[in-house]
Amino acid sequence: MSSIEAIKKAVRDVPDFPKPGILFKDITPVLGDPALFRAAVDIFVSRHAKAGIQKVACIDARGFLFGSAVAYALKAGLVPIRKKGKLPYQTLSQAYALEYGTAEIAMHIDAVKPGEKVLLIDDLLATGGTAQAAAMLLEKAGATVVEIDFLIELAFLKGRDKLAPRPIFAAVVY
Ligand code: AMP
Repeated sequence: MSSIEAIKKAVRDVPDFPKPGILFKDITPVLGDPALFRAAVDIFVSRHAKAGIQKVACIDARGFLFGSAVAYALKAGLVPIRKKGKLPYQTLSQAYALEYGTAEIAMHIDAVKPGEKVLLIDDLLATGGTAQAAAMLLEKAGATVVEIDFLIELAFLKGRDKLAPRPIFAAVVY
């Protein structure tokens, strides 16, 4: 079995979390397995080993779990993109639509420099609204988003279309 197949098998489906009708993809069995966690991080690292990535930006909160390990391995800086109100210094922020209502994410104004090559990471691509807002923040600050990477893509939600034409990669697709 390939490591991608093993990761796919380990992801746990939790029905009706956090609310009725949502099938939640629980990645904690992947995080808790030494070989699978390492394999997941290495999938991202090996894609970008020679890409000259200067910063890895990752999205609150499960994006941090992979983004920090990937940044360390790539010898890149780490940029946390957080839910609005969590970052202490001046921020750029971006609102985006949820199924019901809106949400807002933020990044420190000096988190990336114009022209910096940034890899954006989150755990899961659903409708794409969160990653699109994160990419827009990085682009507002003048960074180049080299690729947006996810451990999991829910392809039937067509989040990829929202992120086009930015390069997208997902390790495991449902
Ligand atoms: P979206 O903006 O719709 O692409 O949603 C992506 C964000 O919501 C990611 O940060 C995911 O962690 C989370 N998310 C959305 N749907 C799910 C799901 N079915 N299972 C686990 N996480 C999800």
